[in-house]
Amino acid sequence: MQLNSPIENLPKLQKPQLAALKKLGLDSVQNLLLYFPYRYLDFSQTRVIADLKPGENVSLKVKIKQISSRFSFKSHLMLAEAVVSDDTGSIKVVWFNQPYLAKNLIAGEEIFLAGQADYYNFGLQMTNPIYEKASDFPIHTSRLVPLYHLKQSLYPKTFRNLVASVIGLADEVPESLPAEIIKNQKLMDIRQTIKQSHFPETEQNVTEAKKRLAFEEIFYNQLLAQKHKLELAKKQSYPIKFNQSLIKQFVDSLPFKLTVEQKKAAWDILQDLEKPMPMNRLLEGDVGSGKTVVALIAALQAVSEGFQVALLAPTEILAKQHYQTAHKMFCENPANFNTRCALLTANFCLLNNKPEKKDKLTKLLAEGMPALYIGTHALLQKNIKFKKLALVIIDEQHRFGVDQRAALFENTKKVPHLLSLSATPIPRTLQLAVYGELDISQIKTKPLGRKQIVTKLVTNENRAKAYEFIAKQITAGRQVFVITPLIEESDKLGVKSAKAEVDLLKKIFPNFNIGLMHGRLKGAEKESVMKDFLDNKIQILVSTSVVEVGVDVPNTSVMLIEGAERFGLSQLHQFRGRVGRAEHQSYCFLFMTKALNQSLNSGSGYTTPSASRPPLLKEGGEAPRLSASSGQRRSLSSFSKEEYPAKRGEVVKDNANNETITRLNAFTKTQDGFELAELDLKQRGFGEIYGQTQSGWNFKYFDPSYTSLIEPARQEAINLLKDDENLKKYPLLSEKIKRKVVHFE
Ligand code: ADP
Ligand code: MG
Repeated sequence: MQLNSPIENLPKLQKPQLAALKKLGLDSVQNLLLYFPYRYLDFSQTRVIADLKPGENVSLKVKIKQISSRFSFKSHLMLAEAVVSDDTGSIKVVWFNQPYLAKNLIAGEEIFLAGQADYYNFGLQMTNPIYEKASDFPIHTSRLVPLYHLKQSLYPKTFRNLVASVIGLADEVPESLPAEIIKNQKLMDIRQTIKQSHFPETEQNVTEAKKRLAFEEIFYNQLLAQKHKLELAKKQSYPIKFNQSLIKQFVDSLPFKLTVEQKKAAWDILQDLEKPMPMNRLLEGDVGSGKTVVALIAALQAVSEGFQVALLAPTEILAKQHYQTAHKMFCENPANFNTRCALLTANFCLLNNKPEKKDKLTKLLAEGMPALYIGTHALLQKNIKFKKLALVIIDEQHRFGVDQRAALFENTKKVPHLLSLSATPIPRTLQLAVYGELDISQIKTKPLGRKQIVTKLVTNENRAKAYEFIAKQITAGRQVFVITPLIEESDKLGVKSAKAEVDLLKKIFPNFNIGLMHGRLKGAEKESVMKDFLDNKIQILVSTSVVEVGVDVPNTSVMLIEGAERFGLSQLHQFRGRVGRAEHQSYCFLFMTKALNQSLNSGSGYTTPSASRPPLLKEGGEAPRLSASSGQRRSLSSFSKEEYPAKRGEVVKDNANNETITRLNAFTKTQDGFELAELDLKQRGFGEIYGQTQSGWNFKYFDPSYTSLIEPARQEAINLLKDDENLKKYPLLSEKIKRKVVHFE
């Protein structure tokens, strides 16, 4: 057996297991070794039977005195029952639903058991302990026992045995981090990391191994970011001269005064544009913070210097809205900036408000006609070849894949300056990890005079009141957004739950028109629903969360979110940002699913119904499978420890509901997107925030607890590239990075 041996070479693998391994991407021995556990069960304490205390996670070394199996009419399951003993006493052991077990184990044999004992019918008993035959190298008991994310037909024991059978090959895995860095950062080397991850000797070793993996990951991330920066700095862009009087004139012509942060951001950008190397800047600011006008300042500057600018929006509706805003500010302005604006989407083609043939516009654009071209992905099509594209602005950048971005630069000799606009606030501590290759400008405060959006957590009892309130708002001329969550896994786009909501609301509000927006609708259908909503032909628009309602409908005053507990705070914040865009006082109502309401009302812990048990319960694999039809509801404590977190000090969150309510309450109290992002990070972890951005990198090991590694990793990356920009000395590293690089050409 060798590191690069295919997984098929491992002995005793059955077909379904092989398939499951491949599904996990584990096609070679090396990949198997690099598949790390996500958690450990702590069975490192060994006890003798006489010292057993109920509820303690321990391992025992015992001899089987007797073992048999029978069908239990009470539980409708097969039971294996055994009596085991050591020098200090004996104890009863019961396994549910593992009929083969009594055949595997025979009386007289020495085994290890891992689990906990509990009182049952007057005496201590172990239920569903993990077992293995006694040996000098226990794998499943008597140690920190690794748990892996596995697919069906792969059981934890099978998987551990597989890894154990090849763990010796860890000594041949090549180290990809430079030795210097391992030394400087006091990191565990890759071989130790592999061994200590799968079969750790101590908890400290687990910590060290995890840290090494996290560092490695963030280091690659930073290396990539720095490489990007270096590469970009070598590219040529069109330097765009700053015309102070023009910009001043434009700013003076606006119907409002720019905020200090808007001015600062505009200044950052205008300075970047003057340089002969491409800008790569992110303008980050909450929904409604006024990013558009800042972007338009940059666009105006570029177009009036004779360049072409492309502004990409994630949806046609948004593109159209941007077009209207730009046209108003540039062309319908008494100062008249004499700047062309074009709209180019699947369904529209306008040049300075006049319909234009698509071919014609494409031709003009290829000839280099200076203008601000606004559009959707349609602007990225192959047949569109800008001649003098100097600036690209991407609104809601995370919606554009990295490849799409790259496509923009395919046909241009000069690399355009790039400005991304994002409404996803990233906590400061994570900025570098998420956007390492970007320069960042932030708008943290909204324009003055913006009213706070009244945000309320609505219990079931108060639903009726909320509906009454909504009816009054609509009667007063306002409109309402309703967002529905994804509830069933089978209902991937949430269409079903949105439709159900429409039916419900039709009964409650028979006199209002209710519209439906979801991901299955075709572009034109979406467009028409949105238009009806804009024209107030629809008073209530129900939308799935999948369809981003990133649209300005200033007349809406209520955002109602169903199943609010299913969303992250940042996401809720995005939804809330859709209202309160005009002078009307606006409201955001958070409705919850029924189960949560009960605990909100009673204030007590609500027992999680079986359908929504924490996902940990499913991952054990070795656990007894209680069929739902048996009608039994086990108490949480009766689950085998293999199903449950057993690490010392780790508490099962039976009161997750209360936590959710605290979380949602926090949301009602602040309107600061950055603060909410920090909260999300603390409470729900990295994925919540990171999942919303799409910078082409996914962290597996790095999480917020490792933020202190970011800066050292960045420094190491800078140092390494200083002497060896192409990583000639580190081919392995170079290889790893190459797979992730996207070139700006
Ligand atoms: P976002 O950052 O979400 O893209 P927008 O650019 O759409 O926000 O701005 C939201 C609204 O605020 C727009 O109607 C815009 O005209 C207005 N706005 C922008 N800047 C200011 C300002 N300094 N003072 C008042 N209103 C402003
Ligand atoms: Mg915007």
